[in-house]
Amino acid sequence: MEIRELMKKATIFHGHICPGIAIGVLVAKYAIEHGFEHSPDEELVAVVETDNCSVDALQAILGTTYGKGNFIHKDYGKSNYKIYSRKNQKGIRLSLKKTILDKKLSRDEKIQKLLSMKPEDVFDIRNIDYDPPGMAQIEESVPCSICGELTMDSRMMNYQGKIMCIPCYKEFKE
Ligand SMILES: [Zn+2]
Ligand SMILES: [Zn+2]
Repeated sequence: MEIRELMKKATIFHGHICPGIAIGVLVAKYAIEHGFEHSPDEELVAVVETDNCSVDALQAILGTTYGKGNFIHKDYGKSNYKIYSRKNQKGIRLSLKKTILDKKLSRDEKIQKLLSMKPEDVFDIRNIDYDPPGMAQIEESVPCSICGELTMDSRMMNYQGKIMCIPCYKEFKE
């Protein structure tokens, strides 16, 4: 797919156009061109170390989404993107290079500049060992003994012999 089309797809999902989305589109485009095709299920898994605008482009274009469980956010505040393919058993890592953009550029100029750059000039890119996180688990939910709301079994806390959800547990502990 052409970069303009990818930008459009990502922008519709994200809600606005911004340099962050352009960065995410470059990540997704590079991945697609290197054997990481769009993932209707859990064929791909993305592990990202930032929660900025860029990651929405991965969700929109690669099909690595929060809801499917094949999009994992590690809150390190770093612009690093790992993508694994369960099909091809391989992984890549893209890491945003520093000072790729002149701070004086306008928002639009930044976007245009990014989209005209080679991925290798924007990111440090390397192959990584294939050790993706496990598949998403489908789990039984059961009512919390305090608030009664359905809660995934694995998230229940045991406090003084009562099985309860995390928010209820926190209230008890205070
Ligand atoms: Zn944005
Ligand atoms: Zn509860």
